[in-house]
Amino acid sequence: MKLKPVIFTDLDGTLLDLETYSYERALPSIEYLRSQEVPIIFCSAKTRAEQEVYRKELQINDPFIVENGGAVFISQGYFPFDFEYHKAKDSYQVIELGIPYHRIREILVQIRDDTGVNFRGFGDMSAEEVASLTNLDLGAAQRAKAKEYDETLNLQGIPDEINRVLNAIRKMGLNYTSGSRYCDVTGPNDKGKATRILIDLFNRKSGQIKTIAIGDSPNDLPMLSAVDIPVLVQKPGGTWEEIDIPHLHRVEGIGPEGWARAVEEIIEQGMA
Ligand SMILES: [Mg+2]
Repeated sequence: MKLKPVIFTDLDGTLLDLETYSYERALPSIEYLRSQEVPIIFCSAKTRAEQEVYRKELQINDPFIVENGGAVFISQGYFPFDFEYHKAKDSYQVIELGIPYHRIREILVQIRDDTGVNFRGFGDMSAEEVASLTNLDLGAAQRAKAKEYDETLNLQGIPDEINRVLNAIRKMGLNYTSGSRYCDVTGPNDKGKATRILIDLFNRKSGQIKTIAIGDSPNDLPMLSAVDIPVLVQKPGGTWEEIDIPHLHRVEGIGPEGWARAVEEIIEQGMA
């Protein structure tokens, strides 16, 4: 029996170009997957508000994972059976794995006081400041600030100070991951836990599935470890992140170009 592919994908630096946020190079592949009804699950540090823009533009209605696994958003009725979720919000069923943003902020303010290191997160910045830091336009910067489960830090400076902050984050029971650009501070969630929850739901829906995940950075490791076929695209400069897990496919091509090649090699040529 042919297994049904389900694709999990990181956004920044993977489906989206790291500098321009363009998915143009991957568009034909996305259209091909849509025509084959292959689910495309965004699994990103980006917020719900940010991901909703891309979902609409790309006409993707599949579930999505926000803020490094902070929550899974599933359109009402997507899975034709009852399953456990924490709340209904707008038109979604929401499975929450993270802790609320305001709680993360409280802990970070405490850490700033305790360590005396004056680091800053998106919550300390105006939308204009986030826009200039991230190369996003103002509307996109506002969506990036609409955080529910995760805080993004622009952690730069003396390595010893950075280490003190990161140690304090761990000591306070929070986690951090390095994405393509920033340090994200979260609760006990990661991309892998959220990915596994959706894999279980897809198994219930479709029976035999073949799971694929595409990423570029260390924060993708839990997602890549959760699937049958993990794929790494190249980073700017043409190198791959140093990740070593079984069956890892390193595809040629930076960001969305590698994404397109992964779909071609794995789906179109029948590996899955
Ligand atoms: Mg990335």
